Amino acid sequence: MRVRLAPSPTGTLHIGTARTAVFNWLFARHHGGSFLLRIEDTDRERSRPEFTENILEGLSWLGLDWDGEPVIQSARLAEHRAAIQQLLAAGKAYRCYASEAELTAMREHQAASKQAPRYDNRHRHLTPEQEQAFIAEGREPVIRFRIEDDRTITWTDLVRGQMRWSGADLGGDMVIARRAPADRIGDPLYNLVVVVDDAAMAISHVIRGEDHIANTAKQLLLYEALGVEPPVFAHTPLILNQAGKKLSKRDGVTSISDFRAMGYTAQALANYMTLLGWSPPEGMGERFTLEQAAGVFGFERVNRAGARFDWDKLNWLNGQVLREQGPEALRQQLLPLWQARGWVDSSSATNPVHADPAWQRDLCELIGASLTLLADGVEQAEPFLSLPPLQEGASQQLEVEGARPALAALLDRLPEGPLAADQAQELLGEATKAAGVKKGVLMKSLRAALLGSLQGPDLLATWLLLHRSGDDRSRISRCL
Ligand code: GLU
Repeated sequence: MRVRLAPSPTGTLHIGTARTAVFNWLFARHHGGSFLLRIEDTDRERSRPEFTENILEGLSWLGLDWDGEPVIQSARLAEHRAAIQQLLAAGKAYRCYASEAELTAMREHQAASKQAPRYDNRHRHLTPEQEQAFIAEGREPVIRFRIEDDRTITWTDLVRGQMRWSGADLGGDMVIARRAPADRIGDPLYNLVVVVDDAAMAISHVIRGEDHIANTAKQLLLYEALGVEPPVFAHTPLILNQAGKKLSKRDGVTSISDFRAMGYTAQALANYMTLLGWSPPEGMGERFTLEQAAGVFGFERVNRAGARFDWDKLNWLNGQVLREQGPEALRQQLLPLWQARGWVDSSSATNPVHADPAWQRDLCELIGASLTLLADGVEQAEPFLSLPPLQEGASQQLEVEGARPALAALLDRLPEGPLAADQAQELLGEATKAAGVKKGVLMKSLRAALLGSLQGPDLLATWLLLHRSGDDRSRISRCL
C-alpha cells in the first residue's frame, strides 16, 4: 500500500488538504504501507517556497509524518514530456491550433444554443498541410489528449462504490500541455503529470477530495493510453461550512496555521479532522489519537455526504486535550503567556510565590477544567496573578446584609501560616456563626473579595491557593 498527498504550494496548508492528509496517513499506517508526499509546483507563477515550507511544517505539527523525501514535481519535467511524446507518437494526442478567440467564440455559441461547454475536437484530424498553414500564421498549439465520446469509464471507488462516467461528459479532447511552438512540448498540465508521477511513485491508492472525481475519469483514460495499471481511488467528502456550502477562504479560518495561532492543539485538530467524514466504530467515543484511529481506520466508515464544520465539537476536543495533558504540561505552555503579560517574573515587583512552579501547577489544576483554548488560561489566571478590580456583581454582593461583618470575622481568624482545607472549612463555619449570616452569604462574598467577580473555579481551592501566595488577606481587607 503506497499512498500520497500531492499539495500545490500555491497557498498555506488548507484544512481540506490537511484532512486529505489525515485519511491518507490513517490508511497507510493501518496497513503498514507508505505515506508519500509530492509537491505539485508546476504552476510556476503561483507556487512559492514559503508555501511549501508552511505545508510541510503544518503536516509535521499535526503529527502526520511522511515516508522518505518529498517528490518535487517540477524536477520531473523530462518524464512528463516523454509521456506526452509517447501519446503523440501513438496518435492518442495531437496539436490543436485553435486560438483563444476561436475557443471563446465556440463557447459563446454553445452557451447561446444551451449546450454544455466543451471543446468540439475541431483539430483532431488536421492534415500536415493544414498544420503547416497554422504554423505559417504564427499560431502556437496546445497538445490535446483524445477522449472518445462513446467511451464509458467505470471504477470501484472505496468510498462511493461503483462509479460510471461517459466520455461525452468530459468536455472534449483534454489539453495536456500549454501553448508552445509546434516543434516543442509546452508545460505539461495537471491530469497528465499526476498520472505520470503517481505511476512513477508506484502509488497503489489515490485518496483525495470528491472535487477530483471528474479528473479521475480523465486520468483513468490516461493510464490506459500510457499502458499503466491504475491505482484504486477513494474520494472523500467535502468539508462544508455552517450553510452547507463547500468551505472556502471566505469562511475565515481555513489555514492550519490560523487554527494553530488561535490556540488549537495539534492533537485536537487532527482528532477533529478525522471526524470530518469518518465515523469511529461503536464504543470508541470521539476523543482519540491518530494512532488509535489508525488501528481501526477503513473506508467503509467514511461517509459519502459532505461533512459540516462544527466549531463546538472542535472546541470541546481542544478542552479535552488540554485537560488530558495534565497541569504540568499546561503550566509549561501557559507560563510564557503569563510572563509576556508581566505577571510572573523574578523581580521583586511581583509576588515571589507566583513564580513557584508548584503553586503555578496547582493554579493550572484549578483552572484547567474550564479551558477551551490555551489563551483562556491567560484570562482565567489573571485574577490569581494580578489584583482584580471589583466588578459590579461583586460590589453588589458586598452590600448584602451581613456580608462585610462575615468577611471581617473571617479575616480575624485567618492564620498567618499555612491553611489546610478542613481548617478553612471550620473557619468559614465559625465566621458565619459569629456574623449571624447564612453560609451562602459568606461564600459568595468571599468569592467576590478574592476574585473581584462572582464567577470562577472552586471556591475553597481558590482561597487556599490565594492564601499560599498571601493574597487572601489584602483582598479581603480591601472590601471592609
Ligand atoms: N495538486 C492537486 C491538489 O492539490 C492534487 C490532487 C490529487 O491528489 O491528485 O488538488
